[in-house]
Amino acid sequence: MKDIAQQTDAVKAMMTWDPPVYGQFGMKPELVNYASEDERLWVPIEPNVWYRPLFFDMTTGSHCEILRVKRGGILSRHRHPTPVHGFVIKGEWRYLEHSWTAKAGSHVYEPPGEEHTLTCDNDDEMQTFFFIDGPVLYVDENDVVTYVEDNLGLIRQCREHFAANGLGADFVDALIR
Ligand code: FE
Repeated sequence: MKDIAQQTDAVKAMMTWDPPVYGQFGMKPELVNYASEDERLWVPIEPNVWYRPLFFDMTTGSHCEILRVKRGGILSRHRHPTPVHGFVIKGEWRYLEHSWTAKAGSHVYEPPGEEHTLTCDNDDEMQTFFFIDGPVLYVDENDVVTYVEDNLGLIRQCREHFAANGLGADFVDALIR
């Protein structure tokens, strides 16, 4: 990972970090992701569905992201073998499998084994911070796993996206600890 001083101005407008206080004990650098209007940060995954990667933990396999969904977008049915925490930043959304709607300010906890399909019904886009403590298993209509999304796959996807839009493939490296 480059030192923050070696990063481009575009990167420094989006994130920063200071050196570890106890770096001599192998402590990792902190990470601050700023709010940004730069559309290049959003990685498209399905029609009207994007995520902004925030953090990849290569020790535990967890990651943090902001999910963005506009009206009609559907994040395909998937299962979480590990816990998930979500906090709705703006807008609202629901799961096809559940009775409730998550609105701005809501915290959502999803236990291991939770399986769902996310959608947004409103003209106002939703943005939700998610901490996902492991891989995501995409399933078909018979609950058969069709794709395993782990940090390696997400990072590969981000590298391709950022390489294509000018931020550079190594942009995502700064998000990895
Ligand atoms: Fe989920």
